[in-house]
Amino acid sequence: MPEHDLIIIGGGIIGGSALYHLGKLGYQGRVLVLEREDALSKGSTALSAGGFRNIWTTPINMRLTSYSIKKLAQFQDELQFPIGFDQRGYLFCQYAENYESAKTFGEEWAKNGVRIEFLSPEEVEKKVPGLKAGIDHIDPDVNELLQMKPIAGGVFGPDCGSFDPSAAAQGYFERGLELMNGRAELRLRTAVKKLRIKDGVYEGVELEDGTFLASEKILIAAGAWTNELLEHSGITGDDLPPVIPLKRMLYITNFPPIEGFERIPMTIIDDGIYFRPEGPNLLIGRADPDTPAGYDVTADATYYEEKINYILQERVPGMERCRLMSMWGGLYDTNAVDHNAVFGEHPHYRNLVFATGFSGHGAMEAPAAGLALAEVMMFGEYRTLDCAPLSIKRFWENKPIHETIVI
Ligand SMILES: Cc1cc2nc3c(=O)[nH]c(=O)nc-3n(C[C@H](O)[C@H](O)[C@H](O)COP(=O)(O)OP(=O)(O)OC[C@H]3O[C@@H](n4cnc5c(N)ncnc54)[C@H](O)[C@@H]3O)c2cc1C
Repeated sequence: MPEHDLIIIGGGIIGGSALYHLGKLGYQGRVLVLEREDALSKGSTALSAGGFRNIWTTPINMRLTSYSIKKLAQFQDELQFPIGFDQRGYLFCQYAENYESAKTFGEEWAKNGVRIEFLSPEEVEKKVPGLKAGIDHIDPDVNELLQMKPIAGGVFGPDCGSFDPSAAAQGYFERGLELMNGRAELRLRTAVKKLRIKDGVYEGVELEDGTFLASEKILIAAGAWTNELLEHSGITGDDLPPVIPLKRMLYITNFPPIEGFERIPMTIIDDGIYFRPEGPNLLIGRADPDTPAGYDVTADATYYEEKINYILQERVPGMERCRLMSMWGGLYDTNAVDHNAVFGEHPHYRNLVFATGFSGHGAMEAPAAGLALAEVMMFGEYRTLDCAPLSIKRFWENKPIHETIVI
């Protein structure tokens, strides 16, 4: 009989949430968590912008995030662990075409319990002091290059906001280990080289130092490195989730000299540029559509100067006076087909459960995903939230889950 019932690979927020929920559900097996770094959350979790929103257009994402936001709000009380939960809202500033399609979706949001306020350009300017919804103030020669359009309206989600994903991961691991009452162990500095699989059945893991550890089941919560591990284990082709590692960068500046700017919501403007207060500073990001797949995470100041700041300083005059103080890059586990999570037991490999492909929304979905993974490992089925649509099977059956309105 193997020494462990379950091995979890990955000390990020997904592995942590799964462990905590196993403990809460009363799992009686022996669990070993393996993390190759010398501390928890050194993968994507610590590098995240920590935003959460329930503004999605697919039922599965609305369900996962609505549930997760409730749990994040209760996190401090339930786990006695502060996570910097800050429900200051998300404001999508939209050009005419996107604003009109968002309005047609209003009833669907209401039906799904997603609170939305549709704002006029004047109301948008009130929510973000200093922001100019129009473009009359922009030099036409400059706008020839920037191609900015007037903001026709805002989609504001009052239940959205941000939290600290590293703190949440730490809280999940600490409380998870306590709830498991001696039956769970966390081993840092322990890299898994590959899984041993025989005749379609998972048997154990081989570590980088050559040690073999057997377990009944495996949960791979290795984020953007999940496919690398699956490939080293001999899993190929359509049996791999369609997930690639993509660099995403974040920037920190000081606030522009605008009264009240520290109270703005997470604000999304032209070309998907987003910003929100981070303590006494501003956190700013924008996904670069030309990033090649790979593990490079070098942060690049030129990208901020040329692809973000030129636009930002026209939309919020005053931003040109902000200093770039810090920046970093991290990896999205990007699902290249439909940009949504892929998780559950692998239909072709018994006892192998994995979770990846969160594509920039894994931190906010972690409470729901961890519970769902714990249920599927304990009971063989989803009991609280039906996450069956997120199975890898959807790609084999050509049933991807696309967000229908890009906002
Ligand atoms: C710049 C940036 C901004 C983001 N912004 C947001 C946001 O606003 N909102 C949001 O919800 N999400 C956001 N995300 C995404 C979010 O951070 C991730 O979806 C989430 O952290 C994934 O958690 P995870 O536990 O799956 O992966 P990770 O945190 O990457 O954890 C995986 C762990 O597995 C370990 N590991 C990997 N391979 C092995 C191995 N072979 N052996 C042992 N250990 C291994 C790694 O060291 C790592 O610690 C952002 C990500 C980035 C990079």
